[in-house]
Amino acid sequence: PKDIRNSVNVPRFVRVNILKTSVEEVIKHFCEQDGYRCIDEPDFTDLRQTIKRDVHIPDLLVFPPNTDLHDHGLLLSGHIILQDKASCFPAYILSPSKDAHVIDACAAPGNKTSHLSAIMENTGKIWAFDIDRKRLDVLKALTERAGCKSILLSEEENIEAIHRSFLNVDPKDDKFANVEYILLDPSCSGSGIISRLDYLIDSLENNLVVSNKEQKTCYSKDARLQNLSEFQTQLILHAFKFPSVKKITYSTCSIYAEENERVVKEILHVTDDFVLADRNKVIPSWERRGDNNELDEAQKLIRTCPEDSTNGFFVACFVRKVKHCGSNI
Ligand code: SAM
Repeated sequence: PKDIRNSVNVPRFVRVNILKTSVEEVIKHFCEQDGYRCIDEPDFTDLRQTIKRDVHIPDLLVFPPNTDLHDHGLLLSGHIILQDKASCFPAYILSPSKDAHVIDACAAPGNKTSHLSAIMENTGKIWAFDIDRKRLDVLKALTERAGCKSILLSEEENIEAIHRSFLNVDPKDDKFANVEYILLDPSCSGSGIISRLDYLIDSLENNLVVSNKEQKTCYSKDARLQNLSEFQTQLILHAFKFPSVKKITYSTCSIYAEENERVVKEILHVTDDFVLADRNKVIPSWERRGDNNELDEAQKLIRTCPEDSTNGFFVACFVRKVKHCGSNI
């Protein structure tokens, strides 16, 4: 448990909001105003007051663990966004083109929505759905602070926040006719979130004996995972119904195969139209991939864990199969 505790001492990741500033400007600000040093390689002897660029996500900066930026001016003005590294993967992998039509199916509180908006350079259109009104209000505030053209629902705005279950969104509605990209980051067990891992570690350290009561909890955990995976499968199948969709990322912050590889396996079993994107399209330099005991194509999936200095996370990217017309083959 002690080793795990060390590995959960993760860096503070900061995504630069390129709608308002640039990575160079932010580094300059921290170096000139706040006395930071910018380093290329981690200096294990003294990490205090250092910043470096992340090697996988272009607009992401890495600060030492426990750096407190909650009331930093650049955060309050929307120039930077505190976002764990793994949670930047889905929008980066989806990478919608400029002017694209995109759905963020389970969007609140909106960190991935603003990331999509930044990748699209504030062009195109993003429909952001969520069933939780309060969380959607947070999305509105955060995307507004990030300078995404949004919220007031006029014609020119590119984020439309809608309080609705994605399962009740009609894929045949004309306004979604050109939706080519869907980001699907649904509710999950949250078992990969480091603060929850801490709880597990504490349980281990205290040598918790499994009592009858806890066994009961175990059973209900299994039932909960089953409910979640059925819901997650339904959402992906619903996303497949949008007539022009060609790329979908599915992500969870769960460590359980039930919500990850097994959901993907079930989906691949029932669809004739979608396949997993090739590994070379899904951050090829990221080494930790899906569990190949669960799925032959696990190399095409991404997993992360605290050993990678980030939360436990999972990403799959589905793409529509290219159809060949008989005479052109
Ligand atoms: N993508 C968000 C972000 O990066 O900030 C985090 C999403 S969170 C993991 C899952 C969200 O799914 C919650 O806000 C929850 O309210 C929402 N949700 C759950 N069921 C939903 C449904 N049927 N339709 C739309 N949203 C749903």
